[in-house]
Amino acid sequence: MVDEQLIPRGIHNQRVLGAFYKVERHKFISINPEKDAYGDFPVSIGEGQTISQPYIAALMTEYLDLNQNDSVLEIGTGSGYQTAILAELAKDVYSVERYKKLALAAEKTLNKSGYMNIHTKIGDGTLGWQEEAPFDKIIITAAAPYIPLPLIDQLKENGKIILPLGENSGQTLTLGWKINNNMEYKQICGCVFVPLIGKFAYPK
Ligand code: SAM
Repeated sequence: MVDEQLIPRGIHNQRVLGAFYKVERHKFISINPEKDAYGDFPVSIGEGQTISQPYIAALMTEYLDLNQNDSVLEIGTGSGYQTAILAELAKDVYSVERYKKLALAAEKTLNKSGYMNIHTKIGDGTLGWQEEAPFDKIIITAAAPYIPLPLIDQLKENGKIILPLGENSGQTLTLGWKINNNMEYKQICGCVFVPLIGKFAYPK
């Protein structure tokens, strides 16, 4: 997966590549893991949700430019795969998932893998995680019509946020960073994610 999908498409950060070599993706997929886990496509994880295509997960991770002291907020735990990747690269990861069934399954997989720096919560991630804020980096792994305001408030000065921004039918992967309390943005590429559902996103 790393040699055939990530490196040829330009993922080059050695720490990011190391994390993708290390985390065993098949452990996070319960439906047809032997057939689908390392494929070049998103995979169903139940509840109508998906684990993202490996390249998109790697691209988002690389743009976040994580370092070992970072505190990271992830919205959309899903299977927990991206959470594990983040935990390999940052100090602490705070991950929120709205589906209880997915959150509990991810927690079980992550615990079995022995991560001590992952903190999970079931709820509406568009509200962020106020008690643990501010965060150095934020990743939203579902399509958002706009950046939820609480997340901008909970991002540190010089902090970065990455998300698929746009319509339900198709989005632009967007990197935002906070400078002098203002947000600046860079558009990266087109993408298609499942929708972010919550108070500061698409309604239920
Ligand atoms: N990164 C995940 C992985 O590696 O498996 C895949 C995430 S999946 C593309 C998007 C996830 O966002 C879904 O599990 C969905 O239930 C979740 N989600 C959508 N709206 C949410 C919200 N307001 N708060 C928390 N999670 C949300």
